[in-house]
Amino acid sequence: MNVTQASVLEKFEAPLRLREFPLPTHLEPGAALVRTEMAGICGTDVHLWKGELPISLPVILGHETVGRIEQLGEGLERDWTGQPLRAGDRITWNSATSCGHCYYCAEKRQPTRCAERRAYGIGYRCDQPPHLLGGYAKFHYLRPRTHIFKLPDDLPTESVIGAGCALITAIHGIERTGIVWRDNVVVQGAGPVGISALAVAKASGAAQVIVIGGPKHRLEMAKRFGADHTIDINAVRDPAARISAIRELTGSHGADVVLECVGIPSAVVEGMEMCRDGGKYLILGHYCDGGTVSFNPHVVTRKQLQIFGSWSSEPRHMKAAIEFLRAHRRDFPFDAMVTHRFPLDQANEALSTTAQWDSAKTVLIPNA
Ligand SMILES: [Zn+2]
Ligand SMILES: [Zn+2]
Repeated sequence: MNVTQASVLEKFEAPLRLREFPLPTHLEPGAALVRTEMAGICGTDVHLWKGELPISLPVILGHETVGRIEQLGEGLERDWTGQPLRAGDRITWNSATSCGHCYYCAEKRQPTRCAERRAYGIGYRCDQPPHLLGGYAKFHYLRPRTHIFKLPDDLPTESVIGAGCALITAIHGIERTGIVWRDNVVVQGAGPVGISALAVAKASGAAQVIVIGGPKHRLEMAKRFGADHTIDINAVRDPAARISAIRELTGSHGADVVLECVGIPSAVVEGMEMCRDGGKYLILGHYCDGGTVSFNPHVVTRKQLQIFGSWSSEPRHMKAAIEFLRAHRRDFPFDAMVTHRFPLDQANEALSTTAQWDSAKTVLIPNA
């Protein structure tokens, strides 16, 4: 029997362990076996490792992955866009799949809220076949109905993983909120989601995009991505001072659109105050339950705020992300986000680099 290796989360807050798993001997119809080229470490992985999301262990983490097709199951001939698939093709895929026929999938067209939705690297235990359902592994099994995307030859793997799940999350959130040409936009947060939101806002025609965040290396990355102004939260520590800085930069009105990409509850109270009257506020960074915050609803009424939420992404956002990355490689250097690379047996070092915000983006190269 052929065996392969994966890094496994067996216990919350304990080191990941390198484990051996059998390679599948045959594939289900519509499935695929992929040799992992690069797996992104997402901030969510840190939350998962700490046990902040309700998941069942053991799990192979990793929900941002690029690999090459090793083997195709019967009947799997084309990717989500209709391009033919062959062994050796470089592909990525949506980590989550929805059922396609429930109330939210079919009737309300909110497939991200499907009750049957499960994601690679999060929602599958690895102690049951086919085991290999996460990116921190040398091989990845793709179940039937996975949304697969063949990558164009001129788009580097670093661009796809550098953008990771952050870009598709930002595309979805901004699609719901809407940015009008010449809008003043504020992005709260300079992590991967904030940088992605900045890129999408710039490409949507924003007049200026102001990024609030830290530490310094993240704000420098924001400048590389075209941020018109940055506000360092470590230098401007008082929320009231940050709110008045935004007012000054927006002709005393406040921003047309504020995009929250932080995940800290108090940022929401602050961000709503940064909106102009009749402005729009998107809460995008609270994928994990960060707890509650008290706020005055009078602010929402008086300012006539529109408040939006957005969860994960749909396959069409991945298609859009790949086209966006290809079209804007010079303007938005997502490949430069990949600052730290580790082999599979150093997955713990990779995870702690991400946890400490040392990197823009850390990746695993499992077959290095
Ligand atoms: Zn993620
Ligand atoms: Zn469904």
